[in-house]
Amino acid sequence: MFTLRDVTFGYIEARPVLKDISLHVEEGQFILLQGPSGSGKSTLLHLLNGLAVPQRGEVLFKDRPLASYDATWLRRRVVYLQQTPVMLDASVRENLLLPFRFRSARGERLPTEDLLQDYLHTFLLGEISLEANARELSVGQKQRLALIRALLLAPEALLLDEPTASLDRESREIVEARAEALNAEQGVTVIMISHTDYVPRLVKPRVLVLEHGTLREVAA
Ligand code: ATP
Ligand code: MG
Repeated sequence: MFTLRDVTFGYIEARPVLKDISLHVEEGQFILLQGPSGSGKSTLLHLLNGLAVPQRGEVLFKDRPLASYDATWLRRRVVYLQQTPVMLDASVRENLLLPFRFRSARGERLPTEDLLQDYLHTFLLGEISLEANARELSVGQKQRLALIRALLLAPEALLLDEPTASLDRESREIVEARAEALNAEQGVTVIMISHTDYVPRLVKPRVLVLEHGTLREVAA
């Protein structure tokens, strides 16, 4: 599904964050990406989503260069959940339905209110009104809202940038179980930046460690 071929990337050209990285991700894999702070984990996800473009090497999605895809088309299939969730200064409902604005304009159906409520309950956000301002929620609540927004799009690949960093244990387990179930039951390719102490229960992950600009695979 994703291929990185000899990819080098740095924000400052003389100081590459990722050096000659190669990686092939099969469709349906569940990948945990680990490594110290500042090692380039988020940067690697940005490369897979087209948010960053390599200085050398190439990134392929389904055997074609990432740049050859229409950006809007790609962003619906490869959904990136960023490390710091960003919400519009608008209601929870508007934030959740934001990606559908352009879809519904073309006659696609909006998710129902019931579905939105179900999702809120699932992620322990049942107390939050769809009318509430999403900017006023806590970071952990925003993180779960961003995940719901991603799930509503039914992506083929989910890139999760520390999706549980601000969550308590109960919420963390719900988010992890959901990501695992999406992979196990619907074949969604998942690449999740995670801590070393997370061990999935429903799936067998590939574990990749990024350090000093290079990627190595370790036994799960
Ligand atoms: P963390 O675990 O803290 O989230 P990370 O592994 O995700 O870290 P990145 O955010 O990918 O690391 O950053 C890798 C390196 O690139 C760091 O040295 C960081 O300072 C630098 N960097 C990240 N974003 C930018 C940017 N927009 N401009 C310049 N340098 C950046
Ligand atoms: Mg990061």
